[in-house]
Amino acid sequence: MEYYHKNELLSRDALVALQEIRLRNTLERIRKTAFYRKALQDCMKPGLCSIEDVPLLPFTEKNDLRAQYPTGLLTMPLSQVERMHASSGTTGNPTAILYSRNDLNTWADLMARCMHMIGMRSHDIFQNMSGYGLFTGGLGIHYGAERLGCLTIPAGAGNSRRQIKMLRDFQVSSVHIIPSYALHLSSVFTEMGIDPRELCLRTALIGAEPHTEEIRQRIEKFYGIKAYNSYGLSEMNGPGVAFECQAQDGLHVWEDAYLPEIVDPTTGKPVPEGEIGELVLTSLCREAMPILRYRTRDLTRFLPGECACGRKHRRLDRILGRCDDMIILKGVNIYPMQVEKILMSIPEVGQNYVIELVREGFLESMRIKVEILEGCFVEDMRVLRGLQSRITHLLRDEILITPRVDLVQPGSLPKSEGKALRVVDLRTKTQG
Ligand code: AMP
Ligand code: ZN
Repeated sequence: MEYYHKNELLSRDALVALQEIRLRNTLERIRKTAFYRKALQDCMKPGLCSIEDVPLLPFTEKNDLRAQYPTGLLTMPLSQVERMHASSGTTGNPTAILYSRNDLNTWADLMARCMHMIGMRSHDIFQNMSGYGLFTGGLGIHYGAERLGCLTIPAGAGNSRRQIKMLRDFQVSSVHIIPSYALHLSSVFTEMGIDPRELCLRTALIGAEPHTEEIRQRIEKFYGIKAYNSYGLSEMNGPGVAFECQAQDGLHVWEDAYLPEIVDPTTGKPVPEGEIGELVLTSLCREAMPILRYRTRDLTRFLPGECACGRKHRRLDRILGRCDDMIILKGVNIYPMQVEKILMSIPEVGQNYVIELVREGFLESMRIKVEILEGCFVEDMRVLRGLQSRITHLLRDEILITPRVDLVQPGSLPKSEGKALRVVDLRTKTQG
């Protein structure tokens, strides 16, 4: 196996041994903060003997990070901190994530490792089409690509025509792009009459938001590339936590740097191996602001068996959604990704959709606005009605309730340059 870092070759036993050492160091380090000193005092087992003891350690929740904003979880003088990022939450205090020089270095190395794993090398020309600024998908991925030695273009988000011009003029071979933006950009390519398959593009890193296999396939087909799922969150540095290898069969968590667990989102207890639950992560190498057992709110599971690539770092299934995104309608639990999977498997369906939850009187219902592909949006009402009813039936079979499906013109739904907003809950607003 070609590798970027020797830790990619570690056996399970060696990985666990390394995790134990790093976890002990982390536990020692976090005691410098009053928050963790107290949390560890209150928990059942403040010391650590082995990885098996981890479920006895306290969790850290998003609200803890908010309460400790801005520097409550810092383990070193502020003068030694070199960067700050923030997570994308929209309500309450933001969460500030602080990085030392060593943290930035480890993070760039982890990111370079991901890119190397999917076949990128120093001769690649890389365009980062995600927003810079506080969002970690900008600088985080940027420094990874530079670490690998790529010519790195900090294109940022938006300005689609300019993006396409740079892709062409610089013979860009690899990009980072948020999946919903990749779909939007495909319609700009069509408008400009440029076929992306005739460019030099070979690989894309796609991530930062939940997306289905169907979306990946659309992206791969339209651009004529391989697209690899990239997962991360600011609380754990940012991207570079888990990443697909060339087998495209689950995301390897870099277990030498992060300790993953899957727990029941209600009880917080570990779920049986292989079952879906909430991903909990502990940072093992962070220096400025280590975080213990962070409740990510992301739902996934460990994939069974070994990966064809030979790496022993365990694999996560693609993120099914966030615990907070689960829709409960008429007593049925629905994940937005179930809806997306159906929509994106229908050839006439275009690049964008939005799920609205509404209440009329006491009745709750789901309305799905779906963009139809140019060319399929015909004048003939009978054809459109036929399509509408086909989509409705397929959705009902999957989610067990009948949504109202509105077909809309291509490009008519609001576009986002960052993470897409897929679910709009209008139930409180329409009440009464
Ligand atoms: P932020 O810290 O603001 O960058 O947001 C991190 C969150 O983005 C994660 O907790 C996930 O909910 C989401 N996310 C990031 N990457 C992925 C991915 N590849 N698939 C699904 N969701 C993702
Ligand atoms: Zn693999």
